[in-house]
Amino acid sequence: MVLCDVCGLRSARVFQAHTGLRLCGECFVESVRSRVWGEVEKWGLIEPGDSVLLAVSGGKDSYVMLESLALRYKVSRLIGLSIIEGIPGYNREDDVRALVEFARSCGVDVIVTSVKDYTGLSVYEMVREARFKGLVESACTFCGLSRRHIMDYYARMLGVSKIATAHNLDDEVQTLVINILRGDIVGVTKIHPLAPHPKGGVRRVKPLRKIYEWETATYAMLRGFKFQETECMFIEENPTLRAKVRVALYELERDHPGLLLRFLEYFDEILRGNLRLSESMEPTTTCSRCGALTTRGRTLCKLCELLEKIDLKEPSYARLRLNLSIK
Ligand SMILES: [Zn+2]
Ligand SMILES: [Zn+2]
Repeated sequence: MVLCDVCGLRSARVFQAHTGLRLCGECFVESVRSRVWGEVEKWGLIEPGDSVLLAVSGGKDSYVMLESLALRYKVSRLIGLSIIEGIPGYNREDDVRALVEFARSCGVDVIVTSVKDYTGLSVYEMVREARFKGLVESACTFCGLSRRHIMDYYARMLGVSKIATAHNLDDEVQTLVINILRGDIVGVTKIHPLAPHPKGGVRRVKPLRKIYEWETATYAMLRGFKFQETECMFIEENPTLRAKVRVALYELERDHPGLLLRFLEYFDEILRGNLRLSESMEPTTTCSRCGALTTRGRTLCKLCELLEKIDLKEPSYARLRLNLSIK
């Protein structure tokens, strides 16, 4: 029997390749939590007085984020938001119910809403309309823009100071590499935890950005979480650059454990002094249809513009937004 390298008491169950440590379940879970808290404190992702909207999908990462934050920060300052996309077989009612119950056991309430309630159409219906019209927009575009809009709306309505999403290290490095490959300097700087956020908007934070995806999966397995495992039906229709980068990075990490972590840490350090790069992208205007913040020079926000292409000119949220009396 191999004993845990940290406590020396229990048998080792997990080999943490990037540290070379063999850990028992308890010490592994503790290692993940303390690194999440360390990252939060290093960059001030959650500070005293903050109230945080946690975007939780019901996948393993969102469970790990919920539990690790609820253990450390005032649960009365945390609130979950779960968005049902409306994609057949994905994000089912029982997955959402399990998530809400788990969050409640951590002391965190979760608001459940759906893309259909918010806009008038589910993601599936949007895609169907788009295909009918012969548009090239992917399901991910409809889904991503809708979710972002919903998060911003609830953040402003609830008056929270931060939005936390459960992106893990693999997600972050993929995005970073894609932006580098495309030569998108603004995109690169936006990865940084201290990147300026849009004026009037709510700062987004990613507490799990230094935790590998295999680690959130292992944490969830060790803790016995009943998280959603089904993949979105649209994932295979989308053989994107991200999918290719993901495979390449996975192979590099397998042969050189710790590579992804060091890569992200390197960019965190070299970008520290160069963050003004993304300031020029700050939105300074509001959408004439719904009041959402949007990039300077636009009349409609990206979601309103996209939905107009499928003839949805009066999305449900346009009414909500007006009732908010935008500052
Ligand atoms: Zn141990
Ligand atoms: Zn709009």
